[in-house]
Amino acid sequence: MGKHLLSKSTFIRGMQCQKSLYLHKKRPFLRDKISPEQLAKFKRGTDVGVLARDLFPGGVDMSPKSPAQYQQKREETAAALSDPTIQVIYEAVVQYDDVLIMLDILMRDGDKWKAIEVKSSLKISSTYLQDAALQYYVLKNAGIDMSDFSLMFVNSDYLLDEKLELDQLFIIQSVIGHTETHLEDTAKKIALCKQTLNLQKSPEIDIGLQCNEPYPCDFKGHCWKSVPADAVLYTTATDEETRFLMFHEMESKSATCSNNSLNERIEHQINALKNGSFLIDKKNLPTKLEGINFEKAIFVKALYYKPAVPVLNQTKPYQPIPLALALSYFENNSWKTSSMHCANDLSDWKKVVLFAARFLQEEKTIFVYGDSDLCDIISSVVQRPKPEERLLDLEKLLHDLDFFYGNPSGLNPFDLAVSAFLPEEKLPKNEVWLIKDLLESGTEKSSNVLKHLEKYPQLMLAMMKKLFDMA
Ligand code: SF4
Repeated sequence: MGKHLLSKSTFIRGMQCQKSLYLHKKRPFLRDKISPEQLAKFKRGTDVGVLARDLFPGGVDMSPKSPAQYQQKREETAAALSDPTIQVIYEAVVQYDDVLIMLDILMRDGDKWKAIEVKSSLKISSTYLQDAALQYYVLKNAGIDMSDFSLMFVNSDYLLDEKLELDQLFIIQSVIGHTETHLEDTAKKIALCKQTLNLQKSPEIDIGLQCNEPYPCDFKGHCWKSVPADAVLYTTATDEETRFLMFHEMESKSATCSNNSLNERIEHQINALKNGSFLIDKKNLPTKLEGINFEKAIFVKALYYKPAVPVLNQTKPYQPIPLALALSYFENNSWKTSSMHCANDLSDWKKVVLFAARFLQEEKTIFVYGDSDLCDIISSVVQRPKPEERLLDLEKLLHDLDFFYGNPSGLNPFDLAVSAFLPEEKLPKNEVWLIKDLLESGTEKSSNVLKHLEKYPQLMLAMMKKLFDMA
C-alpha cells in the first residue's frame, strides 16, 4: 500500500475549501505566519485524549513517533486487529482509499469492533460528525467489522467532587447512524479532494465565508492580498454574508446595494478606512458616564485558566479560575497599578479575588474589557457591595458607541481599540502568552508577566480618558 494522500485534518481542510487543501499540500510556503494563540499552545493540564484511555485500560498504543512511522504502525495495527489477545488499541493507524486515520480508541465487541473518537470540547459539532464519517468510512472499507462508532466529549455539567470520575466527566454518544448514512457521500468528498490534488494549479475559488468558517484559514494572506484596505469586506455595518455579496458585486460592477441607510453607514466606514481614522457615535454615551470622575473609578484586567478537566474541587470543565489580576486606581493624588497571581498554587485563587475586593469594596465604578466572568467571581467571594451595577465593560461600551476602526490585519478587539485611540502606544503582550508564561515558567518570570499584565488596566484608563476628551 502506498503513502496516503489525505489525513483526517487535510480532509477537513478540503471540506472547508478545496483551494486551502491544494495550497496546504502543494504551496505550504504561502501559509500565513502562525498567530500568537497557535504559537502559545501549551499543555492545558491533562491531555483529554490520553485521560480518556483510562476508561478502557490495557490497550496497545500505536501512536507513531513521527510521520516516518505511519506505514510501520499501520502494519502493527493490522497485526493487533487479528491478535485475539488484544482487546483495546489506542491510536489505531488504518488506511483506505489513500486516506490514513489514527483512531483514539478501538475495542473488541465480541467478534466486531467499537470505535471511540475523543474530543476535548463540550458538544458535538458538524465538523466532528464529518470527521467521524471519514473515520468510519476508512475503518469499514478497510475490512474492520464495526459494531459502533461513538464520539466522546466533555460533560459541561460535571462537578469535580474530590476524586475525578472519568465515567461522569465524559459523555459517549453513538453516531453510527450518521456515519452509516454518509458512506457514499464521504466517498464522493474523498474523490473530490484527490481530484483537487491532481490539478496543475490551485482551483479558482473566490474568497468567501469559507475563509473564516469553521476555522480561520491560514492562506488569507495569499488569497486576500489584492483586496484593497478600504474594501467593503473590512466594514462592520452589515453581516459577513452581505459584505461578501456586495464585494463580489462591486468587483463585477454589476449592482449596488439598494438599502440607502445601510449604504450610508458603509460609506462612512469606507471613508474611515480610506483616511485611517475611526468612528464613534458619541450620542450613544450612557448617561451614567456623564461627568464621570475617573479618580473614582478602577480599571481591572484578569487572566483566567480554563482547564478542560477540572483541577480544583467543586469546579466544572472549562470553568474560569482567576490566575492573575491587575488593577489601576487613584490613591494619594496619583494613579497606581497593583497586581497579583496564584500560578504556583491555583487553589489560592480566592486570595487573588480578595486582593481585588480590597479595592473594589469602595463605591467605585469598575471598568473591565470584554470580561463576563469577573462579576460572578467577585460576587462568589465578596458578599457586598455587589459589583454588578458598578461594573462597566469597555468592549460593550465601544460596541454601543458604534466604534469602528479598520482591521485588515485581524487584530483582537482590545488591540484594535488601543491602535485606534492610542496609536502611539505599543500593543500589550497577548494574554495567551501571559497565561502560558505564568503556568509554565518559574516564579522568577512571574513578576515580569505581571508587569505586562499591568499594561492592560493602564491602557484602559488611557483609552477612556481619550474617549471622554473627545466627547
Ligand atoms: S483564504 Fe479563503 S479562498 Fe483562500 S484558501 Fe483559504 S478558505 Fe480558500
